[in-house]
Amino acid sequence: MTFTDRDKKHLWHPLTQHKLQKDLPVIVKAKEAVLLDDQGNEYIDGIASWYTAMYGHCNPEIVDAVSKQLGTLDQIVFSGFTHPPAIELSESLMAILPKNQQKLFFSDNGSTSVDVAIKMALQYYYNQGVKRTRIIALEDGFHGDTFGAMSVSDLSVYNGPFEEFFIDVARIPVPSETNINEVEQQFDSLLAQGNVAAFIYEPLVQGAAGMKMYRADLLDRILGIAKKHGVLTIADEVMTGFGKTGTFFASDQIPHKPDIMCLAKSLTAGIASMAITTCTQEVYMAFYDDEITKGFFHGHTYSANPTACAAAQKSIALLQSESFQEHIQRIYKQHLQFAEKMKLHKKVKNVRCLGVIFGMELTNTLDRYGEKRNQLFQFFMKRGVFLRPLGNTIYILPPFVISDEQLDKIYHCIEEVLEIV
Ligand SMILES: *Cc1c(COP(=O)(O)O)cnc(C)c1O
Repeated sequence: MTFTDRDKKHLWHPLTQHKLQKDLPVIVKAKEAVLLDDQGNEYIDGIASWYTAMYGHCNPEIVDAVSKQLGTLDQIVFSGFTHPPAIELSESLMAILPKNQQKLFFSDNGSTSVDVAIKMALQYYYNQGVKRTRIIALEDGFHGDTFGAMSVSDLSVYNGPFEEFFIDVARIPVPSETNINEVEQQFDSLLAQGNVAAFIYEPLVQGAAGMKMYRADLLDRILGIAKKHGVLTIADEVMTGFGKTGTFFASDQIPHKPDIMCLAKSLTAGIASMAITTCTQEVYMAFYDDEITKGFFHGHTYSANPTACAAAQKSIALLQSESFQEHIQRIYKQHLQFAEKMKLHKKVKNVRCLGVIFGMELTNTLDRYGEKRNQLFQFFMKRGVFLRPLGNTIYILPPFVISDEQLDKIYHCIEEVLEIV
């Protein structure tokens, strides 16, 4: 039996309607920016495997750090014990996080980091005897697939069966030059009702929405209103974190800093699943009490797994290095040049880039999981490029180590695909 047949026998893939799904490529190896399938075909990983493997697949320095850790301490309960990899990671993160972030809480993935953030915000007020139970989120936002994260997400298209179990969420439009005054008013009057615990947002770039970008100064005005009303702000940096927007965090480009931040995806460089929710000393102090029940009773079995911490620790060291900072600048320059060219194309509605993120919207509309969109995916794969168009948006978010030649190949394929859409 082939891998494909064996896969079909027992495996259920995410975001997949198996009755409509064609055979899946079997990836057996990955190195730097390249994936290799069982037929010997190579694909350039144009999205760093969902923005995780930013330092290149199987980065030898990270693999080495992880192997050393694996031979030393594999796993230990983090409730009741501590260990050097978690301590060292906390110190490394403090050096690059916005200065107001002081405490780190571990969980398993981006969705759980968001659930933790929401629970923190709700309990922050509960502990103080204040009834605030509502969360405000942005239209078109995406924050994950667990119940809390799903509730604040606007994009989860197929949520029908779960909607009646969602937490109380209200949504505001993403601020733009044209709507900013109305959005400010709407936000202000929602917050004036006094029942809002937190505002959650993907800073500067809404990833799953199709790398939609919005202005830092407009977001800053919204955050100012939240501060004025004493509403906690939660920056979901699961996608934008760790250099992708050109700075360590997207929040670095916005004057008002969040009270809580969510980190995952490239935190561990694609090596292991781990997430961190960070918060200010002030948030933490609302839980610090003689009363045991005021603590935060949330704990995942693999919290602060030492091996995952070692992967994160080495990744952060690489991110801070001159060579990786140069990669980010290099990719940004290339993206800008390509954007200039694409802007003029009649099938292109708009082009945007920030840091290593490039997004381009086509004038034709394509269903998010429709047939035409699948054709684009197949078109790229046949030419040795892995991209996942989001509806009618084609985006690139390559590993920092991608070469100029590999980038050019991706750009070229995108130009070619415009002929068939
Ligand atoms: C991917 C993503 C999540 C969810 O992370 P998972 O690890 O897939 O659970 C949450 N927020 C944002 C902004 C994301 O891009």
